[in-house]
Amino acid sequence: MWTVNNARELYGIDNWGNGFFAANEKGNVVIQPTRNTTQQVDIVELIDEIENAQDLEFPVVLRFPQILEGRIDEIAGAFSNAIKELNYTATYRPVFPMKVNQRKEVFEYILKYGAKHNLGVEVGTKGELLAALALGAPKDSLIVCNGYKDEDYLKLALSVHSVYNIILVVDLYEEIYDILKYADEMGVVPRIGMRLKLFSRGSGHWVESGGDASKFGLSTSEALEIMKILKERNISKSLQLMHFHIGSQITDIRMVKSAMNEIARIYAQIRKTANVLYLNVGGGLSVDYNGSQTSMASSANYTLQEYANDVVYAIQKVCDEENVPCPTIISESGRAITAYHSMIIYKMIGKKDVKDNWFKEPLADDPIQIKDFYEDLQQVNADNYQEKYHSALQYRDELYDAFVVGNIGLEERAKGELLFRMLCRKALTFANAVGDDSEEVHEMKKTLSQKYIANFSLFQSFPDMWALDQIFPTVPLHRWNEEPTEYGTIVDITCDSDGEVKHYAGDSDGREFLALHSYKDGEDYYVGTFLLGAYQDTLGDFHNLLGSAHEVHVMVDQNDWWVCQKVEGDTCRKLLDFFNYETKDYTWDVMDRCVENNQCVNKKEHERIEAQLNKTLKGYTYFIEKVNKPTNGNGNGAVIPPTP
Ligand code: PLP
Repeated sequence: MWTVNNARELYGIDNWGNGFFAANEKGNVVIQPTRNTTQQVDIVELIDEIENAQDLEFPVVLRFPQILEGRIDEIAGAFSNAIKELNYTATYRPVFPMKVNQRKEVFEYILKYGAKHNLGVEVGTKGELLAALALGAPKDSLIVCNGYKDEDYLKLALSVHSVYNIILVVDLYEEIYDILKYADEMGVVPRIGMRLKLFSRGSGHWVESGGDASKFGLSTSEALEIMKILKERNISKSLQLMHFHIGSQITDIRMVKSAMNEIARIYAQIRKTANVLYLNVGGGLSVDYNGSQTSMASSANYTLQEYANDVVYAIQKVCDEENVPCPTIISESGRAITAYHSMIIYKMIGKKDVKDNWFKEPLADDPIQIKDFYEDLQQVNADNYQEKYHSALQYRDELYDAFVVGNIGLEERAKGELLFRMLCRKALTFANAVGDDSEEVHEMKKTLSQKYIANFSLFQSFPDMWALDQIFPTVPLHRWNEEPTEYGTIVDITCDSDGEVKHYAGDSDGREFLALHSYKDGEDYYVGTFLLGAYQDTLGDFHNLLGSAHEVHVMVDQNDWWVCQKVEGDTCRKLLDFFNYETKDYTWDVMDRCVENNQCVNKKEHERIEAQLNKTLKGYTYFIEKVNKPTNGNGNGAVIPPTP
């Protein structure tokens, strides 16, 4: 009998959930923001609360600030353990790279929770620097200024140099001249860092961020030249930080080790002539999105503690060998801090379904292939299902050829398609019973796989799935105590065939289909996509003018959970304004045009158009549901989508 445990295994939640996500015995997904199993949010209760409040429609992004807090504590804790364990003689400071999530609310949480660890900020543009200053990063925590810097960026950073602990990291050799020029003009002795190109490379998708040919960082000769310039000016002390970053999501720990050995050696050599305080090992700490614990692109073959141990150990060892003081270690782990804290909930609004049951039996004048095909269908059994599938492929091809040359009509073509699906469906029941996982079975599943239409935009909410094929775990949020008997893929409401979830967590390559439940009459079916907190929020785009989703932020304590903040998503008006449509006079302009084009628009019609324009402008950009819920229709999976 099917139990919640079967579903846990099927959806792999214990692997990718990292203790933050689980399923309870009611068959509902639960969130444990503090990883404490007695402090859970039952997602169905939360969905009910959102529905009952009637102020926000779905899709809704959930954020769990305490997950951010927990991740910052865990990362700082892992370094602190390693430092203690290895008797490392200096300290560790976390720095949050703003590019990973610039949303104000998220950044505020991170600054608040990071304060106890003296968390600093890394910015890569003047816009990010302005945002960091807007939220008042703590005075003595670091603001690491990376990226290519123009006059405004440099002057802004230098102007607040005495108010904040700003470090200007030279990424492009020529920048040193500008830094020194503006610093002189402003009477400031700058704090300088150098980003170095390493020979070592990362692994996974961002491998090109490291290595000799990387677009980032200084070569060894450029670094030496900068040190010479500083020495000549008698400000060698200005050089405070050395930095490298060989790419995000480094999936293989061997790459971390080799990069650490290389940078530690460079640090030690430089430290003999310059009083560098900080060694900034960049980001790259991976997140195991598919839960496979491998070096595949969406995974990681190491733990956080292993990472921290390797970083600390390599630096310690080389510093001992070279007899130089150990630096304060900085890491800029963004993905690892933010990925788990957010997810999106969306509802299914329909299903693209071929209705096999429309075919009853062949007619007397049907072509012979249809009759033979039908007979084969009757005969499929446990011993011959593969053979019958092969014959079905042939019938299908023959009927297709016959149609193309005009020997059969559309009716016959449709019958052939339906028979093919019916045969696959029957063969699959026998294949599943014996656990057949062959290529043929895979193809049958593909044929029968259905498209579940869900109310969200993949391009807005998890664009890296489209751009990089990254896996974000996507699962139904309830009914885990019922066996999911259907399978298919989830497609979004954009008019784009790339708007489809093509890989699902569960094994290392990502499964191609998701097991889903059949709709129940009048009941909503909710699905969620998890681990969206890193990069997705601001990389998301406005494809089809679908905007940011509403947000609900949730906290827990030992007694209860509660919504601590709601953030409204974009309205249609906001998006039109963003793309320069200037909606201030929009309604009047459209109305004027209506009247001009059709002199006889009467008062009633006028009012109706105006009211609808205003209502739509003010409304959510996503599909707004009406009373009709998805239903089973004829009992065979056909769904009547809600009336738009
Ligand atoms: N630091 C720098 C300089 C980066 O470019 C990045 C992102 O690529 C990061 C830190 C964050 O990396 P991650 O999110 O892998 O921790």
